[in-house]
Amino acid sequence: MSLGTAANPLRVAIIGSGPSAFYAAEHYQKSDLVVEIDVFERLPTPYGLVRGGVAPDHPKIKTVTKVYDRIAANPNFRFYGNVEFGTALTMDDVCAHYHQVVFAVGAQTDRRMGIPGEDLSGSHPATEFVGWYNAHPDYRDLQFDLSQERVAVIGNGNVAMDVARILASSYDELVKTDIADYALEALKDSKVTDIYVIGRRGPAQAAFTNPELKEFGELELADVIVRPEDAELDPLSGDYVLNSGDREAEKNTQTLMRYSVNPPTGKPRRLHMLFLLSPTALMGDGHVESIELVKNVIYRADDGSLRPRATDEKITLPVGLVFRSIGYKGLALPGVPFDDKAGVIPNAEGRVLNPADKSVKTGEYVVGWIKRGPSGIIGTNKPDSQATIDKAREDAAAGNTLNPLNPSRAAVEALLAERGVDVVTFADWQKLDAEELARGAATNRPRLKISRIPDMLDVVRKARG
Ligand code: NAP
Repeated sequence: MSLGTAANPLRVAIIGSGPSAFYAAEHYQKSDLVVEIDVFERLPTPYGLVRGGVAPDHPKIKTVTKVYDRIAANPNFRFYGNVEFGTALTMDDVCAHYHQVVFAVGAQTDRRMGIPGEDLSGSHPATEFVGWYNAHPDYRDLQFDLSQERVAVIGNGNVAMDVARILASSYDELVKTDIADYALEALKDSKVTDIYVIGRRGPAQAAFTNPELKEFGELELADVIVRPEDAELDPLSGDYVLNSGDREAEKNTQTLMRYSVNPPTGKPRRLHMLFLLSPTALMGDGHVESIELVKNVIYRADDGSLRPRATDEKITLPVGLVFRSIGYKGLALPGVPFDDKAGVIPNAEGRVLNPADKSVKTGEYVVGWIKRGPSGIIGTNKPDSQATIDKAREDAAAGNTLNPLNPSRAAVEALLAERGVDVVTFADWQKLDAEELARGAATNRPRLKISRIPDMLDVVRKARG
């Protein structure tokens, strides 16, 4: 019986429910094959980093969930929330019930700096702070010492900008957003006055995008401080900005130049943009008290890129809180190949590879950050997922799939029920969503996120009646 027909639909499991998962599902839906797409998510809530990563003061970016809701509304799509891959559903279960599996789990941890003092109290990965202010259940009980006045944010990516901006924002700016209620309260009492955003390369190599840099200049309580010597470009970078056609670098260097000539207006907080500095140690007696930084110069590496090289010059900056925002890293999944060095699932154009001999693992695919590493904006995931699912569809047409003994939804649902898993369906999530919106409306906020899994499940169970 041919695969991908009403009598024998192509059964696909997608692990994870962030943007890359939805775009993968959408691309299956656009094929001529009859498909059944089951999306498994560890949390009771869908949307991955759109819910747990995008900054609360960027509501427009989050409206992309409307597109995901349309994908989820297709009868061939089913959401299984509160189902952890590896425990509630194993790789063996997937092989028994699906023709194809797509891993879309993102990059769930942070990269480390590998310097002394990194684990002192007061030194945190930015990923934890982001999860905390976004009400992610894994991070909601963390504490950040906001009684400190001086904070360092290491890294020059958009996550560093998000973290710095949230720290610099006023209560009035934050209360308009869907930031977690406990984070709003903690930030209301924040004593932070000086936030140092520290890049190891120069303004022309910053990874942040220009709108994020401009937002710094629009904050109610914070001045942006750029020293003229930091805005000035070394000859290699100057040449790059003039001749490379890199519009983002051009705009960023111009914006930074403007900031450098604007005198501070006396606002109570300051966002300092420091460049060409690499952390070499965090110092303090149990708690971070200062950060040691080495001054870098830019040189042209053999591959033509402009890289930082340390000089002998070091400075010490007194800070009581440090956020390391130097990139995310993927985590291994039970029973799935993993390239620990790169932090991704090894793959060729999205087809998962056996690490030993680099042969293709039939029926296994990967999309998003766990495929290519933590880069790009949400939209980047659409062509990325499409490219993988094109391969998956080709393989299905050629009959190269897993050979499930029991390719049936009913069997999977029976298995989960047997294991006592309280599956959160998409309809359940929509009730939870409505409850969060209603709680938000009652307090004049766009949404009041529920941050504990048992509380989410309570809402869902009550709504089921
Ligand atoms: P990122 O853009 O890759 O930036 C990482 C930063 O860390 C870079 O400035 C990098 O410097 C620096 N870095 C790496 N290792 C370092 C080290 N050992 N010491 C000092 N600095 C180091 O990563 P991200 O900020 O985590 O963001 C991840 C992705 O999500 C990006 O594509 C980002 O654009 C996207 N994102 C987008 C938005 C938005 O659209 N608003 C918001 C958040 C995130 P080098 O360049 O020198 O390596």
